[in-house]
Amino acid sequence: MKGSAPDLKVGLTFDDVLLVPKFSDVRSRKDADTQARFSRRIRLTIPVVSANMDTVTESSMAIAMARLGGIGVIHRFLSVDDEVAEVIKVKRSEGVVIEDPITLGPDGTVKEAWDIIRERDIGGIVVVGQDRRILGLLTRRDITLEEDLDRKVKTVMTPRRELVTAPKGVTLEQARRILHENKVEKLPLVDRNGKLAGLITSKDIMKRRQFPSATKDAKGRLRVAAAVGVKGDHMARSRRLLDAGVDALVVDIAHGHSSYAIDTVRGIKKELGDVEVVAGNVATARGALDLIKAGADSVKVGVGSGSICVTRVVTGSGVPQLTAIMDSAAGASDSDVPIIGDGGIRNPGDVTKALAAGASTVMIGSLFAGTEESPGPTILRDGVRYKLTRGMASLAATLDRRVREGGPGVLTEDELIEELIEESVPEGVEGLIPYKGRVDEVVKQLVGGLRSGMSYSGAHTLDELRRNAEFMRITAAGHRESLPHDIQKVV
Ligand code: 5GP
Repeated sequence: MKGSAPDLKVGLTFDDVLLVPKFSDVRSRKDADTQARFSRRIRLTIPVVSANMDTVTESSMAIAMARLGGIGVIHRFLSVDDEVAEVIKVKRSEGVVIEDPITLGPDGTVKEAWDIIRERDIGGIVVVGQDRRILGLLTRRDITLEEDLDRKVKTVMTPRRELVTAPKGVTLEQARRILHENKVEKLPLVDRNGKLAGLITSKDIMKRRQFPSATKDAKGRLRVAAAVGVKGDHMARSRRLLDAGVDALVVDIAHGHSSYAIDTVRGIKKELGDVEVVAGNVATARGALDLIKAGADSVKVGVGSGSICVTRVVTGSGVPQLTAIMDSAAGASDSDVPIIGDGGIRNPGDVTKALAAGASTVMIGSLFAGTEESPGPTILRDGVRYKLTRGMASLAATLDRRVREGGPGVLTEDELIEELIEESVPEGVEGLIPYKGRVDEVVKQLVGGLRSGMSYSGAHTLDELRRNAEFMRITAAGHRESLPHDIQKVV
């Protein structure tokens, strides 16, 4: 109103609040059930998603996430071929039956076999004739000490007559017994005409036992999502990713409450059919609702919340993450579309708060960037190991992307870099993050904290956590009291 101060809304984030403890009959942390929904149709056993950043999620991270019961989103700052290859690596990493095993002809060379084995990270290759009739099996062991790389595969493989095979349609238990009794690791499946119909490996059967809560598709393969943009090759990229078996497409741009994002979600839904589409990022009820109306099966929430993000500083725009989640969840409340709380998770307690505020899952970037499974090498500085993390809108990431895509017309790489440095207004930064070892250790801490948090809220499930949640706003003094204080910290 003219002449009076505007009615300003207050935005809160994780450190501004605590969850008030509630009566609890949760007797053990194990009784807290962390099952969650990533999207309308994809269920997870833990509400954890690794971020589509080039220092966080490629196939190694996505495989680790899915094995632990979460899911990873492969980033989109790769060529289409490379992003598709990362998806294929996840889908092939384990499965009850590998339906379309990698094969080689009998006249292929040992060198060709090595190239395939290394590139696909597999233990062996089925050797087939032109009609896919099985001729033999070549494993790493057959060629490990072979010096003649030009030698033909047919002279080193285990030939068909010595191979243990099983008919198509064999049950998993039967396959386990055959592998065990014959002390072999690979079981090619054969159809009635002697043609290759699949492959079962002892490694896959072992992993099934080792990771009982893994996130899997109907064929027993690990699930994986992959990011796409809203311009250029995004439709062709989406199509290729779907052909490769991706479980969800994540339409991901910094300002997801935009005609670009809405049109892209609509376009994918219309042209590519019944595909699971996650869309974002938004930070308001209206933003969430508009993406849901466009057809989104999950909405990613967070503008300026990321650890490597300077959007709020550079643009003045954003919403503190707890409020963003609460508002977006309210916008989605009349639908069955879940919310992903993306960015700003620094402690296990933040996960509990995000889920209590209405998120179904949390997306994590830098907290996972320092792990073994994130892309990139470790860096040694002053005797301490680090890994790199960077915002996808940082100058370095933008430069890499533009150089990969090639400059417009006649610009050389140096000219392109110069032009970008002059023109670009980065909304992200890059930095070093201490090396943390394997990601399952980090996830264990996050999920352990969540389970305890659920118990403090008297919640057996995440739905109950949301219903029981009573947030209390705290002061700066209250926050200081929450942290270790008045001691010399040892660890
Ligand atoms: P983190 O877990 O590191 O706090 O946040 C990860 C999230 O930060 C990502 O999932 C993504 O939404 C966001 N993000 C990644 N790179 C950038 C960037 O360069 N700028 C901004 N504004 N956000 C970013």
